Amino acid sequence: MGEFELIRNYFAAAPCAQTGEGVALGIGDDCALLTLPPGEQLAVSTDTLVAGVHFPEVCDPFLLGQRALAVSASDLAAMGAAPSAFTLALTLPSVDAGWLQEFARGLNVMAQTCSLRLVGGDTTRGPLSLTLTVFGHVPAGQALTRSAAQVGDLLCVGGDLGEGAGALALVLNQRTAPAAISETLLARYWSPQPQLALGQALRGKATAALDISDGLLADCGHIALASGVRLRIERERLPLSAALLGLLEKDAAQRAALSGGDDYVLAFTLPPEFLSGLLDAGWPIRVIGAVEAGQGVVLTDADGQDITPLTRGYQHFRETR
Ligand code: ADP
Ligand code: MG
Repeated sequence: MGEFELIRNYFAAAPCAQTGEGVALGIGDDCALLTLPPGEQLAVSTDTLVAGVHFPEVCDPFLLGQRALAVSASDLAAMGAAPSAFTLALTLPSVDAGWLQEFARGLNVMAQTCSLRLVGGDTTRGPLSLTLTVFGHVPAGQALTRSAAQVGDLLCVGGDLGEGAGALALVLNQRTAPAAISETLLARYWSPQPQLALGQALRGKATAALDISDGLLADCGHIALASGVRLRIERERLPLSAALLGLLEKDAAQRAALSGGDDYVLAFTLPPEFLSGLLDAGWPIRVIGAVEAGQGVVLTDADGQDITPLTRGYQHFRETR
């Protein structure tokens, strides 16, 4: 099977690759053509996933397709953008029809979940890696950036933390757990649900937002730096799921919530007056701390003591000291 046949069979023919709202021209020409609603800005984000770094060399291609797109779509959620389209640059060691079929099926399921259309990409030979670029749109000036958190805001998250990190030991077959626990955690790892609707509901309310990919402490550090404020996280307020507490002791679960990555839950700062309206509307928002004057991120225990750990999360190129 040649490159063009592969593109045609597995990607151009996928339901998510058909043109529709916002996509005037999809796969097959030199560029795709996207239409933006009047007065809106284009939100763009790229993520690369490398085999052996971001996912195990041997893994289920259906799950990989789902996860790859979910991880990218989560960036649109964090910006408060509505989803439009994505491209896929795929590097494959060889053409394996069964693998491609399953990968495309997983990609398609997540594309339908997220209302994202596949509009193009590139296909090359080499060590397995995926680069996805997602496109969304947001009314001009309403995107949720990282830089406008205000002293006095609440620090909130959009759901339970630590499950992605807790699942990793199961993904890597380093440990096992009863089915009820492992199924929940593995689903969270392989099929994170980008909080696209929550992100859009936070427009005009949250002052700063991001999605937690590298761990809560590390990611909150980005908001603190960009906004010139200090974020205080109260350890006892970290939301931990029953599944995670079934796998790990409470202190290990808290560490997973603080420093593990892969949760793809939104973290955001919110002026207190907006909290009750959002909770009444049913959004799964948990307050975990507050924005204060100062810099950096501090973790406090129930007595308000500073218990900030030294290790904060994952970095590909960690500075040496
Ligand atoms: P070009 O030579 O202009 O780069 P290609 O031959 O690489 O074009 O691709 C032909 C068409 O197929 C383009 O519209 C491109 O966006 C699309 N395409 C290539 N690879 C993929 C892929 N993995 N998924 C989706 N679309 C793809
Ligand atoms: Mg090309």
